[in-house]
Amino acid sequence: MRVGIIGAGAAGMAAAFALGKAGHQATVYEGASFLGGQASTFDVGGGRLERGYHHLFTSDTDIVDLIHELGLGPKMAWIESTVGIFYDGKIYNFVTPADLLRFTPLSLIDRFRLGLVTLYIRRYKDWRKLEPFVASEWIRKYAGKGVYDVVWGPLLRGKFGAHYDKVGMPWFWGKIQTRFASRGKGLKGMQRERLGYPMGSFAEVFEVLEQRINELGGEVHLSTPVRSIVVEDGRATGLEVLDSGGNSVTHSFDAVLSTTPSYVFPRLVPSLPQDYVDKLQRVDYLAAVLVILVLKEPLSKIYWLNIADRSIPFVGLIEQTNFVDPSMYGGKHILYISNYLDESSPLFNMKDSDLLEEYIPHLKKINPRFDRSWIEEWHYHKVAAAQPIIGANYSAQLPDHRTPIKSLYLANTTQVYPEDRGTNYSVRMGKHVADLIMQDFV
Ligand SMILES: Cc1cc2nc3c(=O)[nH]c(=O)nc-3n(C[C@H](O)[C@H](O)[C@H](O)COP(=O)(O)OP(=O)(O)OC[C@H]3O[C@@H](n4cnc5c(N)ncnc54)[C@H](O)[C@@H]3O)c2cc1C
Repeated sequence: MRVGIIGAGAAGMAAAFALGKAGHQATVYEGASFLGGQASTFDVGGGRLERGYHHLFTSDTDIVDLIHELGLGPKMAWIESTVGIFYDGKIYNFVTPADLLRFTPLSLIDRFRLGLVTLYIRRYKDWRKLEPFVASEWIRKYAGKGVYDVVWGPLLRGKFGAHYDKVGMPWFWGKIQTRFASRGKGLKGMQRERLGYPMGSFAEVFEVLEQRINELGGEVHLSTPVRSIVVEDGRATGLEVLDSGGNSVTHSFDAVLSTTPSYVFPRLVPSLPQDYVDKLQRVDYLAAVLVILVLKEPLSKIYWLNIADRSIPFVGLIEQTNFVDPSMYGGKHILYISNYLDESSPLFNMKDSDLLEEYIPHLKKINPRFDRSWIEEWHYHKVAAAQPIIGANYSAQLPDHRTPIKSLYLANTTQVYPEDRGTNYSVRMGKHVADLIMQDFV
């Protein structure tokens, strides 16, 4: 069987690999000039760095197994993470139960409430019962206003901006599950969280994956955007692509898998029935807007710093070199300044250099010694469709991987549920949809 795949991110590449291993021929078309989609990298200090910070949790078994299968297991590092909250002019460590006890911005009662509610969610298995609730209301009701205002409210705003109050409770449940899974079971649950990173960067994982797809008879074409999906008699039969010379070329396939965001998909296949399109349109996305500073000195000792201070115009500071060693990037210190924004946000529309200027004065609040002379280089990336906003009662609205058009399949991050999107789930989904395609073909 010949399968045409749109997108060389984690889902498309995992599907192509699975199909190749089963003896089918997968051809991947990617509009960008690089592999990896949202987990792609760029060059910094002689190393490769993800456009948006990336790590793995110990529960991310699908991608970790894939990394091992590709022979990159020895490159996987599991590193104790340092997580903090910046609140009221101070950085608080937020990793161990002892850190929670020392977290004085919350009253003693609220600290216990936070601990108890976290434990409750962690042990709660039936996430479907949480589906009718939005996270912000549930947290306020059960953990209280204090906990919401200081800890989890800023986390929700950090991830979802103005849409913080639409997010369904299963998203929050999923976050607690993955973060605690990364600490181990039982007494080990009291340990520090360990996060994983493939030390050759995610780019190496995608490159080896591409090699293996090629060896199995598949193909990966970069800088080759798909313009439309060919549909004949209610069945997908091919892809119209723009080749490297800018010519429109049509290729025939037995089945087509699209891994594009939901808003792109109907543009490629206008004959998609309206009820399916309606499901796709129910989910909005936020873009990740990242300013990346290459610094002479570290800003802090924390890898992941949540900013719970609304006078600061960014929501997270992720210092990559407090996670992996600066020697990976020529001895430089790497800091992501992160925001998730929609198109109506002034910060989303700001020129990159203006955004940098907007951010710089606030870095002194985190470290008063910070000086702009520390900045040796800076980079700006806007990752579209970075975070789908998944609301309450979503399972009834989840678009099926098998679309109403025969031989046409969709696998994108809006179909990852109840977990939050992540490379692991895209790999799992890619393999799953490859299985569906093979089942349907017999
Ligand atoms: C800032 C940020 C931080 C993140 N942090 C983590 C993390 O720490 N750990 C983790 O596991 N995950 C993380 N993620 C999420 C993870 O990167 C994604 O969930 C995952 O990579 C999505 O893979 P995908 O294949 O489903 O989609 P994508 O990566 O979006 O791939 C889809 C591909 O389709 C291509 N495409 C679209 N339209 C066309 C067209 N018409 N023709 C051809 N190609 C097309 C796109 O260019 C893209 O390459 C993060 C994401 C972001 C943005």
